[in-house]
Amino acid sequence: TTQDWQAADSAHFLHPFTDFQGLARKGARIITEADNIYLRDSDGHRILDAMSGLWCVNVGYGQRALVDAAATQMQQLPFYNAFFQTATPPAIALAEKLAEVTPPQFQHVFFSGSGSEGNDTVVRMVRRYWDVLGQPARQVIISRHNAYHGSTMAGASLGGMSGMHAQGGLPIPNITHIDQPYWVEHKLPGETMDAFGIRAAGWLEAKILAIGADKVAAFIGEPVQGAGGVIIPPATYWPEIQRICDRHGILLVSDEVICGFGRTGHWFGCETMGFRPDLMTFAKGVTSGYIPLGGVMVGDRVAKVLIEQGGEFEHGYTYSGHPVACAVALANIKIIQDQNLVGHVHDDVGPYLAEAFALLGEHPLVGAAETCGLMGALLLVQDKATLKPFDAAVGIGMVCRGHCFANGLIMRAVGNRMIIAPPLVITRAQIDEMAALIRRCLDLTLADVRR
Ligand code: PLP
Repeated sequence: TTQDWQAADSAHFLHPFTDFQGLARKGARIITEADNIYLRDSDGHRILDAMSGLWCVNVGYGQRALVDAAATQMQQLPFYNAFFQTATPPAIALAEKLAEVTPPQFQHVFFSGSGSEGNDTVVRMVRRYWDVLGQPARQVIISRHNAYHGSTMAGASLGGMSGMHAQGGLPIPNITHIDQPYWVEHKLPGETMDAFGIRAAGWLEAKILAIGADKVAAFIGEPVQGAGGVIIPPATYWPEIQRICDRHGILLVSDEVICGFGRTGHWFGCETMGFRPDLMTFAKGVTSGYIPLGGVMVGDRVAKVLIEQGGEFEHGYTYSGHPVACAVALANIKIIQDQNLVGHVHDDVGPYLAEAFALLGEHPLVGAAETCGLMGALLLVQDKATLKPFDAAVGIGMVCRGHCFANGLIMRAVGNRMIIAPPLVITRAQIDEMAALIRRCLDLTLADVRR
């Protein structure tokens, strides 16, 4: 029964990003099965998963081809590694496929088991690149406040989550942060979005100049900041970031762990945002979360130096290029291609979600409704006209999230932003269903705060 699961769970399972006492009091919600965009819990409730799990189930649940790919590969060769001049066919085939679907500068991949490990690899790789080029002083990596780049020591350091930094003495040395381009916090009265984007990118240049360009190795960012609250930058931001990195010779890294594999309406978020990264980390959507896999796409500029001059790169994971994970990734990418899911997001459900969100934006609680492809955020405010926020003590996001849970909808709350990233297979009718659920939860939240 649910109670049995919950008792065993709180007795033994330390959940990630979870308040242990709170979990023990309330009991975990036990998810037992899923199909398409819907989950089922151990009490039989049907739940619309507007978060694709943790932003990862791009092709939706229950895709038989992924199950078959895993089973077939497990029988034939469940494991062999890629260390010491060995390889397996699925890893080679996936490397070739990734070179096809990523932007043209990417012809090489380094596999990891997760996004965090991918970003750790980036830290080591960019420093190695500058070492090989005889510029070992280029050590500093610049990232952004409120970014999420993973939970390993380097990943959490690249990330800009103050709570994570406070636990465990982070960031590690030579990682520093600039502000995110969040208009609600930083745009000046009367400033256009375009002007704001250029000014926000300028924070990077100011940081580079303060440190000294000859000490800066790379800048890393998510094209659209996900866990930080779906912060969609102005169109001018990333092209200006690109110009600044070019001007100072700094490597540009796109963390595509969320934005990759169709989420923003292109294969990769850097294509939506109009920039050309030197390195690109991915995970999640590469297998739609059916099995763990991540990696770093290595652009020509870095690959050439590492391959031709770098010798052995002393770095790797047991599961780098895991054959079963790679076989699943190939089946997953085949679905994205065969069903034209990127076009589906770009031309059909992305614009349709934008319309649905524009209507939700008229709700009295909503100060702004923003989307990019199939990522969306609703800013909950006390006063629509001035965007006056609720007192933090109200915990407005958590109140709304509670109503979502109770009404069969998974949405995430980030402070006062309610965010979604549904599976890419979602249909227009399902967007209508999701929007109706969101509206109901907003009404219930409004009734609570007026009480
Ligand atoms: N980078 C981004 C942008 C993420 O959102 C995440 C996870 O949510 C990570 C990296 C870390 O990936 P993983 O949890 O697979 O280690």
